[in-house]
Amino acid sequence: MTTTAAWTERYTGALMNTFGPPKLVLVRGEGARVWDADGREYLDLLGGIAVNALGHGHPRLVAAVTEQLQTLGHISNFFASEPQVELAERLVALLGTEAHVFFTNSGAEANEAAFKLTRRTGRTRIVVTEGGFHGRTMGALALTSKLAYREPFEPLPGDVVFVPYGDLAALEAAVDDTTAAVLVEPVQGEAGVVVPPADYLPGAQRIAHEHGALLWLDEIQTGVGRTGTWFAHQNPALVSDRVVPDIVTLAKGLAGGIPIGACIATGGSGKLFDPGNHGTTFGGNPVAAAAALAVLDVVAEGLLDHATRIGARLKAGLAADPRVAEVRGEGLLIGLDLTEARSAEVAAAAQDAGFIVNAPTPERIRLAPPLVLTDEDVDAFLAAWPAILDTAGVTEGATA
Ligand SMILES: *Cc1c(COP(=O)(O)O)cnc(C)c1O
Repeated sequence: MTTTAAWTERYTGALMNTFGPPKLVLVRGEGARVWDADGREYLDLLGGIAVNALGHGHPRLVAAVTEQLQTLGHISNFFASEPQVELAERLVALLGTEAHVFFTNSGAEANEAAFKLTRRTGRTRIVVTEGGFHGRTMGALALTSKLAYREPFEPLPGDVVFVPYGDLAALEAAVDDTTAAVLVEPVQGEAGVVVPPADYLPGAQRIAHEHGALLWLDEIQTGVGRTGTWFAHQNPALVSDRVVPDIVTLAKGLAGGIPIGACIATGGSGKLFDPGNHGTTFGGNPVAAAAALAVLDVVAEGLLDHATRIGARLKAGLAADPRVAEVRGEGLLIGLDLTEARSAEVAAAAQDAGFIVNAPTPERIRLAPPLVLTDEDVDAFLAAWPAILDTAGVTEGATA
């Protein structure tokens, strides 16, 4: 039995079967590369699902976490810590408008915090989009449209209305003076990187505000430089006009792999919670906050432009194969549609060839690699890409 097979067997014996069998057993990472239990090397083009912004084992992240843990590791929210306050200030500054922050440990928890915050408006209705993904806890799941995720757990918290994504007329029809918030992702990540028209977010903002509702952007996947700007709603390639959301939720890339989430609310929305309304034991933990500060520092040193440039190269290279029907996304959040519904086969063939990619739907491949991906990494993947499609049996046939 290989080492991988042995660990997989132990995994199956000890862990709940929520994720299906693991695709690999990984033991080590460095930069954009990881190694499995049998010593095979992979280029990680998924980055822990848009999490490992600095790649694996980045010395600045390791140093920040080590130093903070040696100084002060955890204190509870009865007390404040320096990294927590500094991180909140930094995020507000990046947002560019007055705001207040609540820290969590995950994306779902950031959305739970925001969901509760919207209830403090005195209204309950949330308008959300079909194909959106907001997390697996009961509240976040109530805001997530996919039936397979929802149905086994109904009844879910109510007063949630779904509208088609990217459709301002549908939003206009659904939002009224009872709406507490409109919740959208600037780009739908889990759906396979679906990009709305550039006037969608500005339009959603106008519609929400006409009815006194909050505009809540889930930037859990798109935030912290992923699309080449600090927030996707600030990306001129994605939005046609200035957008100032009332709520922004963050998580994934924020601390480069250390668990963290943030619910940020601007203006008066940032003051809707009173003491006792919400809480968390670990949220704002000094080690997680120090990790996030290190990520923000390193990303600020040129990784935004790097992600934009290298993402454009990757997109152009992938689109050159006629078996790719469409490529979408900005920076290093990239989705593509195959001419045939063989994405699982493509992901498997890519893995056999030493590349980790993700197949979020039967037709789509998603890439969310570390922002430190190099030109050489891109060259290596693009060189292997046609053969990966060959192995997966994708033809130029009719569009799936
Ligand atoms: C991943 C994700 C979440 C959920 O985050 P978790 O940390 O898995 O709870 C929510 N919204 C979006 C857009 C995401 O991509």
